[in-house]
Amino acid sequence: MSRPPFEPASERDIRIVSAQLGRPARDVVGIPARCVCGAPTVVATAPRLSDGTPFPTLYYLTHPVATAAMSFLEAAQLMVECTELLASDPEVAAAYERAHLDYLADRESIAVVPEIAGISAGGMPTRVKCLHSLAAHSLSAGPGENPIGDIALERSTWTPEVCRCPDYGVDDVDDVDDVDDSDDADAATEARA
Ligand SMILES: [Zn+2]
Repeated sequence: MSRPPFEPASERDIRIVSAQLGRPARDVVGIPARCVCGAPTVVATAPRLSDGTPFPTLYYLTHPVATAAMSFLEAAQLMVECTELLASDPEVAAAYERAHLDYLADRESIAVVPEIAGISAGGMPTRVKCLHSLAAHSLSAGPGENPIGDIALERSTWTPEVCRCPDYGVDDVDDVDDVDDSDDADAATEARA
């Protein structure tokens, strides 16, 4: 786990994240969390994308098994349970507020983007809207930082301690070319737009 400043992502990291997302990863500023095998589980993205778009979600969960586990927990109404916990436990609510402020501080240490000032992720500081975002924050900042993200990871059938990574095919030379080609094609499309 890590918080900014991040070490630069490797070319292989970028290829894995692109495979996880199903599109070329853009504006990656680091890999804040990894599987025990070393594959990225969370990607950190620049607060302003290279095309100028503000991007509030600094910590984004990319691992396919982890995202599926969070979707399952959302379907199982864990967000409702967590919302009730926030309403009934002032200590949890205060910790969640601190997590929100820490999230903003981490992001603003990379770049301050006025359009997204005060906006973090996942529903923080008072709501629970996306377990993927909150789990990504917990995986990056470590246990004890985001109480709702911690609960989501505790309930999850996935853990970074047990590798369940698929074969992303990133060590295949042809796939490397594919990623580069599509990136160039997208850039050309944007340039024309
Ligand atoms: Zn793994």
